[in-house]
Amino acid sequence: MTMTTEAADKPRIDKQALLAKYIEERDKRLRPDGNGQYLEVRGRLAHYLDDPYTPRVERAPKTDHVTFAFVGGGFAGLVTGARLVEAGVTDVRIVEKGGDFGGTWYWNRYPGAQCDTASMIYMPLLEETGHMPTEKYAHAPEILEQCQRIGKQYGLYENALFHTEVEDLSWDDAKSRWVISTNRGDRFTADFIGLGTGPLHVPKLPGIPGIESFKGHSFHTSRWDYDYTGGDPRGGLMEKLADKRVAIIGTGATSVQAVPHLARACKELLVVQRTPSSIDVRANQPIDPDWFAEIATPGWQTRWLENFTANQAGGNAEVDLVMDGWTDLSRRIRSKIMQLPPEDRVPMKMLAAYEDSDFEKMEEIRARVDSIVADRGTAQNLKAWYRQLCKRPCFHDAYLQAFNTPGTRLIDTDGKGVEAITEKGLVVGGVEYEVDCIIYASGFEVGTEYKRRAGFDLTGRDGLKLSEAWGEGMRSKHGIHVHGFPNAFFVQPTQGANLISNVPHNLTESGRTIAMTVKHALDRGHSQVEVTQEAQEKWVELLLTGMGRMLGAPDCTPGYYNNEGQDPGPAARLNVGYPAGATAFFKYIEGWRSSGEFEGLAFR
Ligand code: NDP
Repeated sequence: MTMTTEAADKPRIDKQALLAKYIEERDKRLRPDGNGQYLEVRGRLAHYLDDPYTPRVERAPKTDHVTFAFVGGGFAGLVTGARLVEAGVTDVRIVEKGGDFGGTWYWNRYPGAQCDTASMIYMPLLEETGHMPTEKYAHAPEILEQCQRIGKQYGLYENALFHTEVEDLSWDDAKSRWVISTNRGDRFTADFIGLGTGPLHVPKLPGIPGIESFKGHSFHTSRWDYDYTGGDPRGGLMEKLADKRVAIIGTGATSVQAVPHLARACKELLVVQRTPSSIDVRANQPIDPDWFAEIATPGWQTRWLENFTANQAGGNAEVDLVMDGWTDLSRRIRSKIMQLPPEDRVPMKMLAAYEDSDFEKMEEIRARVDSIVADRGTAQNLKAWYRQLCKRPCFHDAYLQAFNTPGTRLIDTDGKGVEAITEKGLVVGGVEYEVDCIIYASGFEVGTEYKRRAGFDLTGRDGLKLSEAWGEGMRSKHGIHVHGFPNAFFVQPTQGANLISNVPHNLTESGRTIAMTVKHALDRGHSQVEVTQEAQEKWVELLLTGMGRMLGAPDCTPGYYNNEGQDPGPAARLNVGYPAGATAFFKYIEGWRSSGEFEGLAFR
């Protein structure tokens, strides 16, 4: 029997036929090597990591002592640093591999880079810094400036070490301090450490045979070579590409934003696709200062953050202040469920309603391709055949249009990827395409182990390595404290709110929690704070009572949301958040830290 969904004004959707198509498209892409298909960028490929933005400045190694050292100068380090300074802990040193603060936004300066979550909630500490975002979805230079603004306002620059990579962090129990060594010969100590190395910061390259043989120019999108392309991160025309034939490999969120700019600039642009992204409407607009002045009353950003989270994750907000692509998605699903008669609101039927809403959304997104892209064959190949949250949803109002630009061509690999790279270009479907430049929009390492991505292991009490402690998966309390690693704090979403549609909210909350914990320890003269084994295990048990991982179902087309279609192993079941949802978590953690009890932590 063929199941269909019907709506008075919409064509019928043949769910079974669609599901069969989704599976067929997934199967084309499944490959046994999973994450192993990507190359680790080192050795002869290490030049892909060079910083094109800031010259490295020589300096003497540091051998001093600080109260708090933080690894990573992105949002996590900045918001934790800011909260520590607010709490009176001003001796904070941020160690950062880039040449300035910004993390992701330091590296990703490709043309068109822009946030996909509304600026009002995505950009941290807007109220504290008094900055009004200029656009509903701010472009990268403005986000980088916000990072610099935070760094300046909270005095975080003075003590920071840029172009510096931590190589080792070891706990000295006798002295109750961490010893930190770096690739710049530093060996300094800190009472406390924070770790905010981010999930997506190590560029990866596709393991395409011959990748080292290309004699033209090439770079990864996170190291954009404006010397070669001309133009600038603000979207200035890349005039040096006017006589160039360029290929961009990859069609994820990065490529979707960069392609319209490349299409405008290149003599010829080849967009090399393995799996199409889903491209929904963007509808960016400037923020009206009069409107902003009206709404930006004390506490506005917290209200907006809480409203977004309530709309996203299990709250029951009656209004949607943010109205971005993410809240739209949730609103649709909720309204579909609310259409069910009350007696039918049982998990099976709610799940079916969610599926219906997804089929409808994806049909709309596919119809949008047809309505924009002139060439029928190209339009067909640009359609995404999977459920929307199988891959990172994209939003753009110029990407699909770019394929109507003369000189811009989609090279679809039918799920197989690029076959080979040669001295002169690349091979797809047995055809060699000669190009002057290859741009790798091939993403970042995700499924690899913490030690490999961070570039260091942590040695805690009694020589315990973090890689051992987490050998069978992450174990923590609140995603922040790990038993065996006193005075160390992790700043990331997993095992906390796990709110992935607005990661900065997780980070600012963690920053506040850490600052209050450290202040509590310092005010009472404690030299050590550590989660007890019992409290950690209790937290992990609680996490496991939840619904499990919501992203990247195994029947999805492969990508980093589902470990490239491979079984992620039992450890992955620990990559979850608070079972009652993000709103409940933020409420819980506020109570936990404000009580002054810090239940589960041992202070010595
Ligand atoms: P992704 O990992 O999302 O995309 C990599 C692309 O490279 C995919 O299209 C992939 O195809 C393709 N690819 C990989 N190997 C090959 C091959 N051998 N041949 C051809 N193509 C290949 O990386 P992005 O940098 O685009 O995005 C990473 C993440 O960064 C996003 O998911 C998002 O979380 C974040 N981001 C956020 C933005 C925002 O908020 N505005 C903007 C940009 C990025 P396939 O899909 O088949 O694997």
